[in-house]
Amino acid sequence: MTAAYDTDNIFAKILRGEIPSHRVYEDDAVVAFMDVMPQGPGHTLVVPKAPSRNLLDANPSTFGPLFTVVQKVALAAKKALNADGVTVLQFNEPASGQTVYHLHVHVIPRFDGIPLKPHTGAMEKPEVLAENAGKIRAALGS
Ligand code: 5GP
Repeated sequence: MTAAYDTDNIFAKILRGEIPSHRVYEDDAVVAFMDVMPQGPGHTLVVPKAPSRNLLDANPSTFGPLFTVVQKVALAAKKALNADGVTVLQFNEPASGQTVYHLHVHVIPRFDGIPLKPHTGAMEKPEVLAENAGKIRAALGS
């Protein structure tokens, strides 16, 4: 049986503003912020405000607003980082590689011939995250 949603997971704390993040986007239903252990430059997490562990227990009404923002962020991150493509990833339960149990979608700008770095690998410097967030925010605004 799948565990219940934990209101103290790290993304719930980020959504409540209890933990800082480099935000690039927010609307009524969705927030997007930089992944602190990026698999590539500009790696952004798109997170619905509605609580669910992952895709498996989410209300289907979550997905329309969520993937509308995934597309917006993918376009903006590709432009901001001058990338050649974008990988979109989403994990469900530990067997799949999920490590934070609040539904989220990874948006990772990709560059021809450059492999992804490991999932939950090295922490990025805050100044690099801030710089990439600024570029993505600027691209979202244009
Ligand atoms: P998952 O493995 O659940 O699909 O992805 C969780 C992601 O959250 C990982 O890519 C990891 O680097 C990222 N992450 C873990 N802790 C934090 C945090 O405190 N802040 C941010 N912004 N990202 C985090």
